Amino acid sequence: MSPPPAPPAPDDPPGPPAPTAPGAADSYALLAALDLALTDQPADDVTAARFELVVDILIRRGHLTEGHRRLLHNVRPASNGTQLAAGEDKHAIAGPDVDCASLLHLCHGRCCSFKVALSRSDVLEGRLRWVIEEPYVLPRADTGYCTYRDDEARCTVYDDRPTTCRAYDCRDDARVWLDFEQRIPAPLSPHLVPIERLRRPRP
Ligand code: SF4
Ligand code: SF4
Repeated sequence: MSPPPAPPAPDDPPGPPAPTAPGAADSYALLAALDLALTDQPADDVTAARFELVVDILIRRGHLTEGHRRLLHNVRPASNGTQLAAGEDKHAIAGPDVDCASLLHLCHGRCCSFKVALSRSDVLEGRLRWVIEEPYVLPRADTGYCTYRDDEARCTVYDDRPTTCRAYDCRDDARVWLDFEQRIPAPLSPHLVPIERLRRPRP
């Protein structure tokens, strides 16, 4: 795929904005590392105690609330497969041969509005943001699109984009095309802004 790649999953409404509290991203990375360790070794009491300690510290710093602690406890059992996408070596994924640049006026790059679950390696690499309210999922802006997509529908983290984005093939996705060969797009979801309205006017 060229400039903007893509992802599958339910066509959910956009998620909350990315965290802004100083140090929150690093704290989330630490939480994620402990969380993934607990997914592998659920009976590991030392890691479980560290996890709770980090949550306590983050609550005291105001980065999390008690509600987040409950959320994290609910998410953890699901993180081994439900929330995390499969795929370990994302750089080895070739992706389908789709010329995105020539199709954007039809598809509006809507693939970048779909819910994208991060893989385990995406989370551990720590190069892609996620928010505590929706762990291990790419955040979406109020435009409905991924926060890493720019106004020209380009992926600003192309080299680090998630496994899901690399492997996605829109050609048989009914959310995108009524008929890919005939270049007939499916109707754009009403909560998405068409690409021509996102583009900034040139000076
Ligand atoms: S919907 Fe398909 S053609 Fe359009 S940007 Fe996404 S992958 Fe490319
Ligand atoms: S990371 Fe975001 S902008 Fe980049 S391809 Fe994936 S969904 Fe699109």
